[in-house]
Amino acid sequence: MAQEQARNESTEGINAWKKRAPYRIHEPNENFNARYEANCHCGRVKYEISRKEPLDSKLCHCTTCQTQHAAPFQWAAIFHKEDINFAKGHHDLEWYDPTSKSVEHKLPCKVRCSYCHSPIMDEGRNMILLFPSLIHLKTDEDRALFKPRYVYPYSIFSHN
Ligand SMILES: [Zn+2]
Ligand SMILES: [Zn+2]
Repeated sequence: MAQEQARNESTEGINAWKKRAPYRIHEPNENFNARYEANCHCGRVKYEISRKEPLDSKLCHCTTCQTQHAAPFQWAAIFHKEDINFAKGHHDLEWYDPTSKSVEHKLPCKVRCSYCHSPIMDEGRNMILLFPSLIHLKTDEDRALFKPRYVYPYSIFSHN
């Protein structure tokens, strides 16, 4: 009995992230106003953003971003965890913690689609970094809102 209880608790612990921002799916009666939509390359993972303007937007040239994106830099827009809603695929994600090189869900970590491996976001302790390349920005006004405001490492910003 005690053993079964412990097992239930640990199962709940493992899956607890699914009920927390940014991974929880909003209830239909919640007032989540989807302003942008985004998806990974294969389309298994889809999310929506309610905030019109990112808190910040940057290009990061650190070696972790270069390696993780296999690109000269990462273009990232910063949001609160509550600003997004996974419309689809929040169970089809995988994690990577570049500090410990572990694939457990530990913060801060990199989040990818487990099927096509597109980077979905960097999840920090309080904020998330989304990648505007995945977001459907339809107007010049929207594109202007996501324009990079600074370039790392030419600032003191640390992205966790
Ligand atoms: Zn995918
Ligand atoms: Zn970086």
